[in-house]
Amino acid sequence: MNKERNLIIAGNWKMNKTVATALALVNDLTLALAHVTDVDLVVCPPFTALSEVAKALGGSNIRLGAQDMSEHNTGAYTGEIAAEMLKELSVRFVILGHSERRQYHQEPDALVSRKTRVAHAASLQPIICVGETLSQREAGHMEQVLETQVRGSLTGLHKSQMVETIIAYEPVWAIGTGQTASTEQAQEAHAFIRGLLVKLFDEATARRVRIQYGGSVRPSNARELLSQPDVDGALVGGASLDAQSFTEIVKNAI
Ligand code: PEP
Repeated sequence: MNKERNLIIAGNWKMNKTVATALALVNDLTLALAHVTDVDLVVCPPFTALSEVAKALGGSNIRLGAQDMSEHNTGAYTGEIAAEMLKELSVRFVILGHSERRQYHQEPDALVSRKTRVAHAASLQPIICVGETLSQREAGHMEQVLETQVRGSLTGLHKSQMVETIIAYEPVWAIGTGQTASTEQAQEAHAFIRGLLVKLFDEATARRVRIQYGGSVRPSNARELLSQPDVDGALVGGASLDAQSFTEIVKNAI
């Protein structure tokens, strides 16, 4: 697909896969996707599988991502994982502010922005998730919600860090529901986010930032979504748990 920015397709495995089943999946993916050169590929297994998946990925064209990270670098934070611990396992990307973290762990934008700065300090590329709920959309508040989340999550970033940051537009009503945003809805939200980046940074910076769409991406809808001018990839949940469906999504990006 001829796009202004390199597409990036990431699989968010959430709290799925043991080490054994993660390895089975990643072995299938490295074989099936070995020929892909012009789409950036990322898998984000649970923390417990990162080490073994890193070894299985080896020198392949698939990069490793984590699903979250602490805002602290070390110390008495039971259950937390620091950036340096991820780096040690060859992790290159980290999802921050996923709606499930925002909803179930009450993670506010200010925390997401602190984590984002810590990720950059460790040379991890953050994938920052934003998106409105159904009631917010129905009340006509989508733009207001996105503006608050984007501004709040990017506080204090320099332009050089912004271009190394990925934003994932994930309407909450589309996540895991099978209800995908239409191509028009996705393009409209992505263009709005890019417009915000122009205001917060500048035109040149905004044009370099990749904005992924997430929310019930499937092989059947991937090509249409990815062909939108401001859609620069996909963050895939459910369909990334199966090698065939993730592979099909990637093929639809080529
Ligand atoms: C997600 O949670 O990031 C996601 C996009 O999930 P799904 O593809 O299952 O809707």
